[in-house]
Amino acid sequence: MRLEDFDTGTTYEARVLSSQRITSEQAEEVREIVLEVDREQFDYQPGQSVGVIVSGDHAQGHKHHFRLYSVADASERGSGKPRVTLCVKRCNYIDEYSGERYEGISSNYLCDLRDGDSLTINGPFGMPFDVPQDREADLLLIGMGTGIAPFRALIKHIYQDEKDWQGRVRLFYGAQTGLELLYMNEEKDDFTQYYDRDTFEAFKALSPRPNWADPIAMDYALEERSEEILSMLDNPHTRVYVAGRADILETLDRVFSRMIGNAEQWARRKAELQAGQRWVELVY
Ligand code: FAD
Repeated sequence: MRLEDFDTGTTYEARVLSSQRITSEQAEEVREIVLEVDREQFDYQPGQSVGVIVSGDHAQGHKHHFRLYSVADASERGSGKPRVTLCVKRCNYIDEYSGERYEGISSNYLCDLRDGDSLTINGPFGMPFDVPQDREADLLLIGMGTGIAPFRALIKHIYQDEKDWQGRVRLFYGAQTGLELLYMNEEKDDFTQYYDRDTFEAFKALSPRPNWADPIAMDYALEERSEEILSMLDNPHTRVYVAGRADILETLDRVFSRMIGNAEQWARRKAELQAGQRWVELVY
């Protein structure tokens, strides 16, 4: 769905409860921003996204700049108003014609907000990453960069709210460098709390030569465990969830084609998985 097609008519006010940088100064800036929504009900599920609306005179005469951010925490209701956690990377880019550097509007706006500031949001939008009814179902989670956000929410939900989870949870997470592995770095290391669970395993994939902007070695990480991954795909209850920058899809098509046999077989298999809601992508 294109951003222009989202309903931005219904909006809510929110307030920043906290904004914390979760990468070191040597890595690109990513912040965890916790919002309190000025509304009685604001229910959302892992895999869904919240819209952020930045008003003002933007390029091409746009009065509103609208962008989506995945919820990065399980929905929790304390005594106060609903809360939403976002994990936002400050985006900048170089115009290929003028060579000028531009700041991404929404990500810079969000990263510059401080405790107590107000903003306008809407949503939630998108297909949730459903938790299967069957407690023995396996989950294969594959993400890059800020694509870790929905998995942080999902894994917390599984181990905190579902409690008796029996299925295997395998998280494959890629980033350019170890410093940019969100929630798996010195600033914040949330996933360590699950390492003693028998059902949970996390695998990291990094770029072999990060300064050269080489692709992240997700293919090696997956192929090293191809036996287990193939057995998971054979289980009719397994769900595969993919999140992060869209260029991960090309890598996954290549590596799954090799694992399954060839590109045609993989295309057929993936179409079946997608038709059964067993392969869901949240890519951008
Ligand atoms: P714009 O003013 O729109 O400028 C965009 C420029 O920034 C483009 O040139 C583009 O190449 C570059 N850019 C866009 N996204 C990225 C990125 N992630 N990394 C590097 N460069 C980029 N972003 C998050 O940080 N966290 C999330 O959890 C998240 N979830 C998303 C969920 C969905 C469903 C979608 C569609 C997008 C999500 N995004 C997320 C991306 C986010 O919506 C914005 O696209 C991003 O913040 C850039 O918007 P901007 O207004 O700052 O930049």
